[in-house]
Amino acid sequence: MNTGVEDRQSEEDWSSRIAHVLKEIWGFDALRPLQQDAIEANLRARDSLLVMPTGGGKSLTYQLPSLLLEGLTVVASPLISLMKDQVDGLVANGVPAVSLHSGQDEQTRHHNRQQIQSRQTKLLYVSPELLVGGSLNGLLRTIGVRAFAIDEAHCISHWGHDFRPEYRRLADLRGIFPEASFHACTATATPQVRQDILEALVLSDPSILVGNFDRPNLTLRIRRREGGRDQLVEEVRRHDGQGVIVYALSRKDTEQIASRLCKEGMTAKYYHAGLSSRERDRVQTQFAREEVNIVVATVAFGMGIDRSNIRAVIHASMPRSIEHYQQETGRAGRDGEPADCVLFHSYADVDRWRRLATRSFEEAVAEGGDVDALREDFQAKDELLEDMNRMASGMRCRHQSIVRYFGGDWDRGSCKACDVCLDEIELLPDGRDVARMILSCVARVKQNFGVGHLSEVLCGSEAQSVLRWRHHELSTWGLLKRFHKKEVVHLIHQMIDHGYLERTRDDRPIIVFSEQSSAVMRGDIEIELMRPPKPRRTGRSVSQAELEEGVDADLLEKLKQKRKSVANEQDVPAYVVFSDRTLKAMAKHRPSGLRTMRMLHGIGDAKLQSYAPVFLEVIESHCDDGDRDIDLD
Ligand code: ADP
Repeated sequence: MNTGVEDRQSEEDWSSRIAHVLKEIWGFDALRPLQQDAIEANLRARDSLLVMPTGGGKSLTYQLPSLLLEGLTVVASPLISLMKDQVDGLVANGVPAVSLHSGQDEQTRHHNRQQIQSRQTKLLYVSPELLVGGSLNGLLRTIGVRAFAIDEAHCISHWGHDFRPEYRRLADLRGIFPEASFHACTATATPQVRQDILEALVLSDPSILVGNFDRPNLTLRIRRREGGRDQLVEEVRRHDGQGVIVYALSRKDTEQIASRLCKEGMTAKYYHAGLSSRERDRVQTQFAREEVNIVVATVAFGMGIDRSNIRAVIHASMPRSIEHYQQETGRAGRDGEPADCVLFHSYADVDRWRRLATRSFEEAVAEGGDVDALREDFQAKDELLEDMNRMASGMRCRHQSIVRYFGGDWDRGSCKACDVCLDEIELLPDGRDVARMILSCVARVKQNFGVGHLSEVLCGSEAQSVLRWRHHELSTWGLLKRFHKKEVVHLIHQMIDHGYLERTRDDRPIIVFSEQSSAVMRGDIEIELMRPPKPRRTGRSVSQAELEEGVDADLLEKLKQKRKSVANEQDVPAYVVFSDRTLKAMAKHRPSGLRTMRMLHGIGDAKLQSYAPVFLEVIESHCDDGDRDIDLD
């Protein structure tokens, strides 16, 4: 019979053996929170699910037990580069570990299989497809498996951001190795994904261990992206000489941004899946060795990067899920020192992701895929995108949002490390009135129209659709005409994000009241709306040529307005005041005084005296408003 005394004794025994191996093999003095629990579950052959942020130390939790007990631990890992890093690290520490994957030559595979067969290896890293395939299975059956560790276990879920069909087949191993325990690990799992992992792997009475997702040393900012890439360049420059990753949405974006940064005198490399593996390895190595400090990359970059002193992760566009955001920002400041994360957000990113998802859905259908399954996958992705967009356009503490998203509790009040808690977000001074105007309009159109139509009405548009429904006769027509239509769309989205309105989930979604709408109308809820991003002007007002590199489109627009009013006052044509070229030069260099103004094209002494001062005022107030630098080269 098992007595309590024996239990305690074996626990003490384990603890001292764990501490010994930890020090001897890894040179670490103590386990981190949750590592102890995860290691114990493994030693007791109890299934477990460990959710811990990147860098939390998950791998140790299955590596260390493998050294304390007889038998083989098999680690399913999705990426060859990750496997390689792990095995190299273990071997360097004197731990017998091997990997098997499709990137190896026949000789290496043969050698590694022999290591397994002779039971000399304690840890085998293998890709899921090899694991569920035939021949390896036979070998493993003859020698037996003590434990399976499933790394990046979120890949098993449709609701995760990295679904991989071969992961779902890992459940077959349960039947083949009934005596083995299963240990799922992931850095990113929402409660829904967690549930999916538990079910798909049929974990039995698992120990569920969820770590803290907050990274208080990261300052998180989400800014609206305005025009060109100036904001991005400024942000990167702020971290001159430090490790910076810029994440971009497409391969082309990475190349363009890297080239712009180089033009600005910085050394930046780009990295994406279109490069040869040799080129990618080179960039990774240069970055890891700090020969290069700035890498502009698509999501693929960073999975195997062990550079702990990255001081900034900058998103040139919005990632497609909060999981991605959390994981990518998580690559900054792994040394625990302060690091900055800035995301430049625009609603256009949502459209871009949606277009990409639609295209890959259509391609997969055309290739004969299972339409229902593909549609489910598409919808799951769309919801993840919505969640990300809601967070980016919302005004809730960023740290809190992430912690809550992953199912954790937040009881810290202000984080003091995000744009919201640092009071950096610009609010609409009359947000409450604007919200009421939007709600009245929804009522006037009888909750029967979508965002586009509502914004047309509120902006006072005379579009066909508005006239046809006689909505130009409504009292709410034109109530928000001080905004551009796109800005009103943004405001309505904010209302939806906050739950003050709802959007139906039809093919043609319409906007209807939510439970909170009437409370907002009555003024029972204190609400705030963010100033919407200025739309990028297209068409006649700002031509493509004007949006050439470095020209601040918003400033250019303000300068043109000023030119118009000066010209009107003096009753002269606009070009007499300043030519377009001169205004563009101002919008590019943002001079701070007459001396620098004088250096621009088209400004002689006379115009310097007569016109320059009022234009300087425009530049100054624009720069103050947006906290922008002046006197750019
Ligand atoms: P994850 O798999 O969760 O992303 P890793 O297992 O790669 O994280 O561990 C991240 C880093 O933390 C590694 O450099 C690892 O050696 C280190 N580490 C893990 N556990 C400890 C510990 N108890 N004490 C000190 N360093 C640790």
